[in-house]
Amino acid sequence: MATRETRKNLHPTTAAFHAGYDPLLSEQSVKVPVFRTSTHGFTHARDGEKSFQRAYHLPGDDGRAPGLIYARVNNPSIEIFEDKITAMERSAMSAMLFPSGMSAISTTILALVPHGGRILYCDPVYGGSYFFLKTFCPARFGTQTMCVNTCDLTAVETALREHGPFDMVYLETPANPTLSLTDIGAVVALTRKYGKPDTIVAVDNTFLGPVFQHPFELGADIVLYSATKFIGGHSDLMAGVTLLPSDRHRQALEDYRTILGDTPAPDTAWMLTRSLETLWIRMEAQAKHAMAVAHAIAEHPKVERVLFPGLLTPTNGVPYEVYKRQCSGPGSVMSFVLKDATRDGAFRVLDAMQIARLAVSLGGTQTLISHPRSMTHSDMTIEDLDRCGITEGMIRLSVGLEYPDDLIEDLLWSIDQA
Ligand code: PLP
Repeated sequence: MATRETRKNLHPTTAAFHAGYDPLLSEQSVKVPVFRTSTHGFTHARDGEKSFQRAYHLPGDDGRAPGLIYARVNNPSIEIFEDKITAMERSAMSAMLFPSGMSAISTTILALVPHGGRILYCDPVYGGSYFFLKTFCPARFGTQTMCVNTCDLTAVETALREHGPFDMVYLETPANPTLSLTDIGAVVALTRKYGKPDTIVAVDNTFLGPVFQHPFELGADIVLYSATKFIGGHSDLMAGVTLLPSDRHRQALEDYRTILGDTPAPDTAWMLTRSLETLWIRMEAQAKHAMAVAHAIAEHPKVERVLFPGLLTPTNGVPYEVYKRQCSGPGSVMSFVLKDATRDGAFRVLDAMQIARLAVSLGGTQTLISHPRSMTHSDMTIEDLDRCGITEGMIRLSVGLEYPDDLIEDLLWSIDQA
């Protein structure tokens, strides 16, 4: 039979099946096994010595790939997942898996921003990221952090020029919970103009990636995920990922993960590996359902507006242009704002829901609904909540895979109760 070269440039959803796993190394098992072990044997003591020289970057390191040592350092289940997600994220070179989105974010910042360094971050960001950047980093590590509305490029330029140079520019787009869009390429260009040569642009790509948005192609240096969300996709695990486009920051991240000990369990990596097989189809189907839901609730007389990239039109100006240029789909997270902008009104809607579950988190197959101001973003100051438009009447909705008509009926009836 004619031999055929192994195909490169696989579509990401094909890569989910084929990248990073060699069945010949695992008894020809078609499915990836889970390596539930905390430690790996060395054939000879010299192999152990060499593995540690490599893992700890010690003299004598001959540049070979590290052998497997101990599950806080590396584990085959984790490496297989990391290789697969790397193959699915456009222009990524490597990935590091963490036990939560917050551990990916915090470890990456601790590893790459020096003590007393400066971070410019976007306004708003997920509540946990906000607390880490606004309170934790300055109080514990002397970091000078400053937030700016990154949808406003003039404000970004002023901040970079007058308050820099920054060590990191931290973006989240679409932002949680306002769904506001930042032009990643434009912020990268401004950072290169006013920043230091090594200023890092990090993008939390949780809402759209790796299917609908590709920050490395726009010049970002780091891509971050709460893999608890779409990547895991079933609201049954916690995880986070940091992706890199080169090996420049790899060593620092490895060292910090090993020593802080925020390496996930092999079972988590195995569940994520399984989730990758359906990531594409889930995100596309959920986005389709979300479009139908967004159109339906936008018509409701008690709804002031729906914040969802899929509803942007040319009349929205810049956000529409950014969306069209930067995203190939809207995702399935949206927020809507009630005309009765009171907490009681919002809670009446939330309490009436029967199909959507009243719970925080997003990106799973089951629809979840929550109230950002009193839940995920309740750590923010009133001033910051008001400035970002996270109002009492705002409700966040993550659309899952229930039959859309059932969900729409449930939502419209519940919104009637506002
Ligand atoms: N980034 C975004 C955009 C999020 O929405 C969240 C959680 O909701 C996180 C990061 C934190 O992720 P985790 O809860 O997995 O730590």
